[in-house]
Amino acid sequence: MADPRQKRLAEFIEPFRVKPGAKVNLQRDFDPAFKAGVKKKKHGVAMLDGGVRLLSEYQTRLAAQDTWGVLVVLQALDAAGKDGTIRHVMSGVNPQGVSVHSFKVPSAEELDHDFLWRYAQRLPERGEIGIFNRSHYEEVLVVRVHPENLDRQRLPEPVKKGDVWQRRYREINDWERYLTDNGIRVVKLLLNLSKEEQRIRLLRRLDLPDHNWKFSDADVRERERWDDYQEAFSQMLSHTSTEWAPWHVIPADRKWFARIGAGSVIVHTLMEINPRFPTVSKRQRRALVEIRLALEAQAPKGAAPDPFEQEHQHET
Ligand code: AMP
Ligand code: MG
Repeated sequence: MADPRQKRLAEFIEPFRVKPGAKVNLQRDFDPAFKAGVKKKKHGVAMLDGGVRLLSEYQTRLAAQDTWGVLVVLQALDAAGKDGTIRHVMSGVNPQGVSVHSFKVPSAEELDHDFLWRYAQRLPERGEIGIFNRSHYEEVLVVRVHPENLDRQRLPEPVKKGDVWQRRYREINDWERYLTDNGIRVVKLLLNLSKEEQRIRLLRRLDLPDHNWKFSDADVRERERWDDYQEAFSQMLSHTSTEWAPWHVIPADRKWFARIGAGSVIVHTLMEINPRFPTVSKRQRRALVEIRLALEAQAPKGAAPDPFEQEHQHET
């Protein structure tokens, strides 16, 4: 770890990381209002600016190297700030190198397949950062809290026997291991919101006319199942935080803090990958010299064989 920034980031994100194998109780173990010693919002905003610049630099290198891909999985309850986090954290990166997918209630076509099918369709390419706004984890969250979703998936009777959820945890872990083994790093972020802060944000959506569009009755209905979701989150964190794809619980009661928390975990992963611009080998460079000579020989009468010659000399 040569870069001191990487060490600082590692320390900053350490409290968010869910230790693989730990038995988690979300409400007991993680404080949605935690600020990691960042006293004021303006300090946080400065940190976010720095993080956005770093992310941009590393994303350029990731794309140039074109070898690793990064999948960012973003989960949270309604009004926790998933959309705003994506907008702010990714604000500095080249849109060509990023893909964002929001997963909604599955379509008839999606329900006709195995449960991971639609997520596999949307994976990032090498060199790309892919963001899942909701993800395959809905399959052990909303589907678990509302089992009628599982009925819609029409699993044959014999495979419905036993503990479907334990099996899904294992299948998800195996899938993420497969992705990691194939050069797709998986970064998992849970934005952790308190019940009271959710109440305030839902009210805000009602109070401010230009926020009304964001309000949905479904959000209020889901809120009634708060405890069930906390339990489903705790189970998910306990069973699917792995060495190859650990979960990070990001305190989300302050939007500005959630953004630096999420951004820091993503940047830290990119620093670990440490992508490099491709270099040209001696042999390739010799080949380039020969091509140049051939192109120069094709110059029409009176034209400079290589109008850029001066610049070339500066470069070498
Ligand atoms: P939103 O993210 O607010 O646009 O809402 C998307 C909705 O789709 C949420 O209510 C999710 O719970 C729901 N959803 C996402 N994935 C699934 C899934 N696999 N099965 C059932 N509902 C889902
Ligand atoms: Mg919503």
